[in-house]
Amino acid sequence: MLFRLAGEIKHSLVNGPGIRYVVFFQGCPHHCEGCQNPETHDISGGMEADTDDVMERIRKAKFLDGVTLSGGDPLMQPEACGSIARAVHEMGLSVWVYTGWTMDDILRDTRKKKALRYVDVLVDGEFVSALQGEEPLFRGSANQRFIDVQKSLSTNQVVEARPENL
Ligand code: SF4
Repeated sequence: MLFRLAGEIKHSLVNGPGIRYVVFFQGCPHHCEGCQNPETHDISGGMEADTDDVMERIRKAKFLDGVTLSGGDPLMQPEACGSIARAVHEMGLSVWVYTGWTMDDILRDTRKKKALRYVDVLVDGEFVSALQGEEPLFRGSANQRFIDVQKSLSTNQVVEARPENL
């Protein structure tokens, strides 16, 4: 499946727990003040990529604990996001997604909800520079929550992940 890609990092320690492959999706409608990746906003920017090729590179990367889909906002391209998440889940790796939408928004949006079917943790909400903490481990600002996606989808309510399960 073709989609717009901003970039990839093979081994990251700062986008979720453990060693993670990070896929940065191109395109973001949120325009948070102080965003550090403004070049990822234009959905026609970045480069065209195929989800199958991304998965091939992920399968070749060694020592991975999981894969993180970030951006930009991966949920601006929900079908490609869901496709990669599913393939990563089938490899037995954990899947994290970063989005500017809140889980409350997503539960009301069928396409975005479907994209999260195989996701473990969602870090939700826009970046708020005034809430940028001293040690915002795995998140940009303190308003962003770690969501237990599977529990949230099964109850149709926002369920935050317990810190010990991150
Ligand atoms: S959601 Fe992320 S990429 Fe989009 S504007 Fe906000 S900080 Fe930037």
